[in-house]
Amino acid sequence: MNFETVIKTTYLDIPVEDYFDGVCYKCGSELLKIRSNYKRVIPDLGAPREKRFIHIKINYFKCESYGRSFSLKHPDYPPKSEYSPLIIIYALERYYRDNISGKKIANVLKNSHNVDISIDTVNSWIKRYSKKYLASIESEKTLKNPESIKVVTIDGTFTSTSRDVIGKKKLVALLSVTREKSGTYLITWSEKKI
Ligand SMILES: [Zn+2]
Repeated sequence: MNFETVIKTTYLDIPVEDYFDGVCYKCGSELLKIRSNYKRVIPDLGAPREKRFIHIKINYFKCESYGRSFSLKHPDYPPKSEYSPLIIIYALERYYRDNISGKKIANVLKNSHNVDISIDTVNSWIKRYSKKYLASIESEKTLKNPESIKVVTIDGTFTSTSRDVIGKKKLVALLSVTREKSGTYLITWSEKKI
């Protein structure tokens, strides 16, 4: 194991062909002429000793049939995005899963992932994206971990009555039905923490 402290910088190149199918956004024509191009540089989530950037090649086209010019837009990196979406997801995961502050997240990003970022930026993401992030977590839980089910009705529908379980041990629920000799049905509900 070599604990060298040298930080290397790596670039992930995204060529135009990766995100553009070659037809005009407006009219679908393929008669496009490149007028100019440039590379966008966006910080990505790095690793210890590794600073990462994404290089996106952007073309500025003139559409010969429509007569107008337009600039390419990458769906995952909108023109105003200053950081890779991975960094934003990372920040929200630390905030909700590990319950740490925006200040600590900014420090971890800086020290362990080589991302230059301010506390204000991290806090603005938490404010802006929390609702969407939590909704995605919620749907993930409903699909994969039905631990929040507490009330079951006989027609098979259920109502969730538990509190948010992010970062806590997961409950596994088991519902079983047995028929006794007398003809009585016995419904058992059990929960186990894993
Ligand atoms: Zn066109």
